[in-house]
Amino acid sequence: MNGFVYLPDVVTLELDAAKCNGCRMCTRVCPHAVFEIRDRKAFIRNRDHCMECGACALNCVTGAITVRSGVGCAAGILNGLIRGTEPTCDCSSSGSCC
Ligand code: SF4
Ligand code: SF4
Repeated sequence: MNGFVYLPDVVTLELDAAKCNGCRMCTRVCPHAVFEIRDRKAFIRNRDHCMECGACALNCVTGAITVRSGVGCAAGILNGLIRGTEPTCDCSSSGSCC
């Protein structure tokens, strides 16, 4: 799914580099290659590629990453796949996902 870009500057992803120990786990679990390691610290290189799935924050043992997951388009797409219905995150009045 690399290459997907969502609305610019709306992602809730935050990284506190002071808490990062450079373990690289976020670079392994992120499906959109949002992170890279620079100077032994995680760095957000593609913020707008984040779909707010929450995998990075869940797997960061130092709590350096926060993201508001389980809402928006990522959740809508996943729920649609699970239920076999059209993806929807209630982000538009038409009922279809943006
Ligand atoms: S998972 Fe957390 S501690 Fe590990 S590199 Fe990423 S931000 Fe740093
Ligand atoms: S929330 Fe998901 S897509 Fe966004 S940076 Fe974390 S792992 Fe990557």
